[in-house]
Amino acid sequence: MRLDRELTCAQLVEVITDYLEGALAPVDVERVEEHLVFCDGCTTYLEQMRATVAMAGRLRAEDIPPELQERLLGTFREWRRL
Ligand SMILES: [Zn+2]
Repeated sequence: MRLDRELTCAQLVEVITDYLEGALAPVDVERVEEHLVFCDGCTTYLEQMRATVAMAGRLRAEDIPPELQERLLGTFREWRRL
């Protein structure tokens, strides 16, 4: 998947499983990491995803419990309002 130059939080969420699995192109990995430098929200999201992977041993988007996904996306909406 190719990304535009500036990665948004929504795009990061979309590619996070690929990122964690090392399936992203190097240039996109760079964009993810550039985004994480200034975005605390996505850093937290990534940490939670890593913890989920550590528990499950593997990760596919459909393995993320819908309620967790909903909670995290709700958190993003909170930040947007701040
Ligand atoms: Zn972000």
